[in-house]
Amino acid sequence: MDAIALYIHVPFCIKKCAYCDFNSYTELEYVPLYLDSLKREISFYSNIERTISSIYIGGGTPTVLNEKELPSLVDAVRGAFNISPGLEFTVEANPETITREKLKVLREAGVNRLSLGLQSFDDKLLKAIGRIHTAEGFLKKFFMAREAGFDNINVDLIFGLPQQKVEDFCDSLKKLLDLSPEHVSCYSLSVEEGTKFYELKEKGLLFLPSEDEERMMYHSARRILEEGGYSHYEISNFAKPGRECRHNLVYWTYGEYLGLGAGAHSFIDGVRFYNVYDFKDYIEKVKEKGSAVENREKLSGEDQQAEFIILGLRLVKGVDKTLFYRKFGKELDSVYGDAIKRLKEKELIVDDGKYVKLTEKGLDLANEAFIEFLP
Ligand code: SF4
Repeated sequence: MDAIALYIHVPFCIKKCAYCDFNSYTELEYVPLYLDSLKREISFYSNIERTISSIYIGGGTPTVLNEKELPSLVDAVRGAFNISPGLEFTVEANPETITREKLKVLREAGVNRLSLGLQSFDDKLLKAIGRIHTAEGFLKKFFMAREAGFDNINVDLIFGLPQQKVEDFCDSLKKLLDLSPEHVSCYSLSVEEGTKFYELKEKGLLFLPSEDEERMMYHSARRILEEGGYSHYEISNFAKPGRECRHNLVYWTYGEYLGLGAGAHSFIDGVRFYNVYDFKDYIEKVKEKGSAVENREKLSGEDQQAEFIILGLRLVKGVDKTLFYRKFGKELDSVYGDAIKRLKEKELIVDDGKYVKLTEKGLDLANEAFIEFLP
């Protein structure tokens, strides 16, 4: 049976962060109803002929579920699907919502990777971006997770925050290195419509670092983390040897995945499909039909090739030309020769014969490179 990655979306948070445009809501009273719908959707897909190689429960904040709800969700998954023995099983967590008991039930349920949202070690910044935890609160939960047996932890940081200085961000990176998590994700702040930050920006009240400073933060992350023993394996992701996120690698290498929950996307047999976005509509639709698919699209060969290369270029090692040939029966150069030539001239990509990858400059201007491959 072919392997597939499974994503489960839990769209609830205690409070909405000022920069957040994820599909998340603060109406926690709906959690039990939503959980029932998820379990129905899980059973809807239970006869899928695939082995689950990784599970990622993301959000939102999955750890808003209580000590009974968390294992009941995992039990539903384990009862419904064929699970690979070497499963990577990640749960995202906001430090403030973690308890010793929740960590224990997650470990017992086979969760072997935790992804903690820290964002910064600077309490003033944490408050300004609407996070509900402090740096000290994070530290406490990080050590609690270690004590509970989590030996594979990712920590998220954001850079380019309002009034953040390059030194502030470097300080957060160094403090994080002292903790030695297995994986670090560093995202650049992006101000999206519908967020509190967007409103402030419109009013001229959001004071972001300059583009140069923002790039210096990214370069600092690469330097400091690489010196600290992490390999930079994806535009925004760093891992200790062998600790790359296997679930996310499925997306970047154009593998198949099933997404469950409000707004979740799936990609199976060349067909992309996604669920209704709003969690109340999701609950209604699952009640009616057992699943909540809003749209299905069979991707053309051209679309699939473009997605393959755009996703693959996110990886620092680049796009595997042999894999492209195996998948599409065509040489990468015969399809994208012109685009590759233009990007080489701009020094955004290099081709070593086996892989096509972004250069240092290309990592900074990745979107400019991706556009060249759009159909
Ligand atoms: S905790 Fe995460 S998902 Fe929830 S509001 Fe904040 S950024 Fe968004």
